[in-house]
Amino acid sequence: MIGLCDCNSFYASCERLFRPDLKRKPVVVLSNNDGCIVSATAEVKSLGIARGASYGSVKETLERNGVAVFSSNYPFYQDISDRVMALLSESVEGVAPYSIDEAFFTFGALSQTEGQWRSYEQEIRRIHRRIERLSGVPVSIGMARSKTLAKLANHIGKDPVRYGGCYVLRPELEEDLLRRIRLEDVWGIGPRRAAQMYRYGLRTAWDLTVRDDRWIERHFTVTGLQTAWELRGREEIDVETSRMRTLCSGITFAEPLTEFETVARTLSCHCMALSEKLRKRGVQATDLAVHLFTNRFKANRYSAVQPQPLAFPTAYPPALYQAAKQALHIIWREGHEYAGSRIWVTGLVPAGQRQFGLFDSEHVQAELDRQDRMTQALAQIEHDHGRRALLCGSGDMKLKLDLSRQLHLSPRYTTRWSDIPVVR
Ligand SMILES: [Mg+2]
Repeated sequence: MIGLCDCNSFYASCERLFRPDLKRKPVVVLSNNDGCIVSATAEVKSLGIARGASYGSVKETLERNGVAVFSSNYPFYQDISDRVMALLSESVEGVAPYSIDEAFFTFGALSQTEGQWRSYEQEIRRIHRRIERLSGVPVSIGMARSKTLAKLANHIGKDPVRYGGCYVLRPELEEDLLRRIRLEDVWGIGPRRAAQMYRYGLRTAWDLTVRDDRWIERHFTVTGLQTAWELRGREEIDVETSRMRTLCSGITFAEPLTEFETVARTLSCHCMALSEKLRKRGVQATDLAVHLFTNRFKANRYSAVQPQPLAFPTAYPPALYQAAKQALHIIWREGHEYAGSRIWVTGLVPAGQRQFGLFDSEHVQAELDRQDRMTQALAQIEHDHGRRALLCGSGDMKLKLDLSRQLHLSPRYTTRWSDIPVVR
């Protein structure tokens, strides 16, 4: 069986952790640059404000309803995420984080008798209680025969009154559920693909499962076929390689590194690797985060994550590298023996869907076009001459914009000594 543990309104729940006064109050968290809402508690959603709404358009409603507003504080969220993941790993096997607030895990096969199902339910309730009690973050856990079904089970479990955060989808109930699920609500089927499916007469998730495999593959490629298999209860999707909202490139160094330029070169490698991953998926990144760490089993441990917004969505390695290096400057501490580095890129958007602001000059647009063409050319060189044929240097980029406006930032309660809350 596959489980999915998902933190509820994760960023907003983190903000509540050290602010008990907000426990029953509505909370939102804004994106980098305070542009739009990226996380909202249930109270906010009931005001009709959805994730993704631009802050400017709902500011007045938020104020009128006494909603607490925070800028995003990623190092803090990452730290809380690490704690939740660590707690999950203590209880179950095969924990595979899928995003900052979700992880799949495996649960050994039990024979499917009535008693065994009940013990599944008891077990995930126990895990659920333990994670909430020790981390303070509300989570929901769904369990089913495949990841796609576990996603649905998780969604059902979120109903606090009926299921209290946990739901196990038994195989005999799958058909009944899938007949009620719209195609666009299935993990991996977006609104566009759902629209195509409707044109072929499919209506619900169940309709897809009963179609012929070859027909599905012909019309919706192997990705569509994987989804159909998953809906039939067969585990197909590898979290590492598909449908990530985040892409990551990481390395543990063969021997500890102590020099800035050497560590920066590892980031350069990550940027080339990430550029390739982004290109292959036809997406561009809007943010990245650099993680630098020392050996956690040695004294004087150091680990820091620094997010850095990108000026524009991009897959252009020098643009990624420039941001990564800025982040590295912020978290670099002399005198440590660094054991590894990592870069995540997030906020993935389809390539070619950049939004230009009213005041972006033609020069900026021309520069971005040039970067897109350069990205293609670099890809061709890597294709012809092998990976790592090129690395980014530290050349200056022409585009320098200040995008680090964060007016509502909460303290870094758990990752910065000076911000640790004081109990009097
Ligand atoms: Mg979540």
